[in-house]
Amino acid sequence: MEIADAVKKLGQLDIGFYCTHDDYAGARFITLTEEQVLQYAEDPVGYLAKFYGVTKDEYLGWHRSGYRVQCAGKTRSGKRCRGSVARNIEPKEWAALQGSFCHQHA
Ligand SMILES: [Zn+2]
Repeated sequence: MEIADAVKKLGQLDIGFYCTHDDYAGARFITLTEEQVLQYAEDPVGYLAKFYGVTKDEYLGWHRSGYRVQCAGKTRSGKRCRGSVARNIEPKEWAALQGSFCHQHA
């Protein structure tokens, strides 16, 4: 059975849909309409990036960073500063804060 047919059939039975992904609080659940299920199934990362208003790279970077923005400054020895600019923030805010500096480098 095609996924579209399966989704339609389940929808007719009043079965709802959601997708889930990790976040800083543990996990997040996002409800999906039948149409959105099909879009999500085509490209899960692309769907979620669009959902949050960021690029795929930004969406993946948000996860990889542990939902934290690291300072863009360098230490005296030339290493990347390990200071935090922000943590436990949403993807759009995370993307906007890239390149920001901690209070020691501001
Ligand atoms: Zn710093």
